[in-house]
Amino acid sequence: MDLASLLLTWYDQNGRSLPWRGSRDPYIIWVSEIIFQQTRIEQGTGYFLRFADRFPTLDSLAGGEEDEVLRLWQGLGYYSRARNLLFTARYIHEHLGGKFPEDFDSMKKLKGIGDYTASCIASICFRQTHAAVDGNVYRVLSRLFADSMSIDTQAGKLHFKKLAQQLISRDRPGDFNEALMDLGATVCKPRSPSCSICPVNSWCQANEKKIQMKFPVKAPTREKSGSVINYLLINAENHIVINKRSGKGIWKGLYELPMIPGELAPVDLAAECLELYGLKVNSLTEIRRVKHLLTHTELDIRFYSAQTNAVNNRTDNNLLSVPIGKIEQYPFAKPLVDFLSSLQEK
Ligand code: SF4
Repeated sequence: MDLASLLLTWYDQNGRSLPWRGSRDPYIIWVSEIIFQQTRIEQGTGYFLRFADRFPTLDSLAGGEEDEVLRLWQGLGYYSRARNLLFTARYIHEHLGGKFPEDFDSMKKLKGIGDYTASCIASICFRQTHAAVDGNVYRVLSRLFADSMSIDTQAGKLHFKKLAQQLISRDRPGDFNEALMDLGATVCKPRSPSCSICPVNSWCQANEKKIQMKFPVKAPTREKSGSVINYLLINAENHIVINKRSGKGIWKGLYELPMIPGELAPVDLAAECLELYGLKVNSLTEIRRVKHLLTHTELDIRFYSAQTNAVNNRTDNNLLSVPIGKIEQYPFAKPLVDFLSSLQEK
């Protein structure tokens, strides 16, 4: 049997049962693929179910508010994914008559939809032969062919995409893509591949030579640089001052405590606070320090308790004074969610 047939036979009996499996609705497949791009299935399934329950159709999402979309996303990280989902849903609703494009190249022109997501949608919903290659698939392919091409270089990505494109089933392209993903997630796992029960072990060169753990090959990683940000907890009369983040950056559109970047002494933070937010703080005390890992950097986050004049109902400089009991209505990035929840537990 050829590789695709072996994989599909295995998939028919062993494929994972997931809430979006079986759907041919491009909107549902799109949402699921975006959520699971940087998120494990166990972690993201609840998010998917809540999102699809609140926004079951593209039109319903197009009519949604950014704050609500971000709140549903809260804790998943990589918030540009949620903002792009909303932007593109509105774009399709307004400019494409609410109909998801079937053409592969048209899909890739939509904001937030790259080659991988477009390949999933095109193959699963429209039976087009586009191989979807993600981290799991890179690993399986590099082991199957004992292929030393680095999976994290542009050349490597193109190389494995081409290879997958040669192998994909012409009859069942969507199932083939999902079979390879499932094989990577459940059998050809990163640290302990279960080669004895693998449906394609007779094909696998790494298995034959017992060199599975040498693959996939990655280019040397660059050093992660660190940066310091300071959050000011201004807590007066059961209200907390928050600020909606504008400008660029991964947390754009989310709320946060008044933030000041840089390694600064309290006296300099107070001066910056006046300059940036027009708030005169009388004293600053560091109350917590946490590290937060992003893709290419590690944030050193410092939380300060700040004493200031009454700030209730203040709305200048984009600041909002929100009752502590209502803080959960606003979307925040993970480090702030953790910090604010710990305050409420006290
Ligand atoms: S035989 Fe082992 S290494 Fe090869 S694809 Fe299967 S699980 Fe992965």
